[in-house]
Amino acid sequence: MSLKKILTIAGSDTSAGAGMQADLKTFQEYNTYGMVALTAVVAMDPETWAHDVTPLPIELLDKQIKTALSIGPDAIKTGMLGTEEIIQRAAKAFEDSDAAYFVVDPVMVCKGEDEVLNPGNTDAMIKYLLPLATIVTPNLFEAGQLSGLGKLTTIEQMKEAAEIIHQRGAKHVIIKGGKALESDEALDLYYDGDTYTLLTTDKFQSSYNHGAGCTFAAATTANLALGKSPREAVIAAKGFVASAIKHGWKMNEFVGPVQHGAYNNVEKIEVTTKEV
Ligand code: ADP
Repeated sequence: MSLKKILTIAGSDTSAGAGMQADLKTFQEYNTYGMVALTAVVAMDPETWAHDVTPLPIELLDKQIKTALSIGPDAIKTGMLGTEEIIQRAAKAFEDSDAAYFVVDPVMVCKGEDEVLNPGNTDAMIKYLLPLATIVTPNLFEAGQLSGLGKLTTIEQMKEAAEIIHQRGAKHVIIKGGKALESDEALDLYYDGDTYTLLTTDKFQSSYNHGAGCTFAAATTANLALGKSPREAVIAAKGFVASAIKHGWKMNEFVGPVQHGAYNNVEKIEVTTKEV
């Protein structure tokens, strides 16, 4: 099988657990060819780990997308986009490409910071990204925003949110209950417009899980590019990220990233599924 090419449109996390670094590491674990169109650079203050976000000029993003599309990605993933203008560019990049899959990770907060990057972005994601998305991968908070339902605390509410997000155009929705849902297990809800499936693994340590969301979406994208169905792709991605979280490591007193290569090199975590 020919090498599959994947473009991520995302920010750089200098600490390299999340962002485009997580995407590239994950794409590599699947032996796919990762490419990047960078939206912003995030650096951290070594004393406080306060995040410093520098957006790149939009013309520079345009040039990168042009280059990457000329190489012909089989799949495109989005990460931190940050502004409405960039959200529109990401949508257009997919439309202008011959890529078969578009995975939208609707990043709204930069991990370590609490504020929503920009509330207008949620509307832009709904308008421009959801209608194109093969799979959208919101966490509990993001699903509450994209559905307009606000705070979600139960599986029933996650189902309602998934239905609304699906109606808004995303063909497949996976809501990550993950770390936010009160449960002894790590539960994610997958919806394909027909059936709701709960994906479950044990819940592992949560001190060193920086980059879990990016890694999950990147693994989903790689599995799609390799020809798995959306359902198979999210199940495989969940096993991949659960292994990465279980073997997360302490970087310093502020942060610990997931171990992106844990699934292939340390331990493969099993995922169970159940219709709900
Ligand atoms: P985000 O980083 O976007 O907020 P999450 O960390 O909630 O996303 O979820 C990313 C993936 O990691 C999901 O599949 C979620 O279920 C899983 N996950 C999150 N925390 C844990 C944990 N402590 N143990 C096992 N899996 C987890």
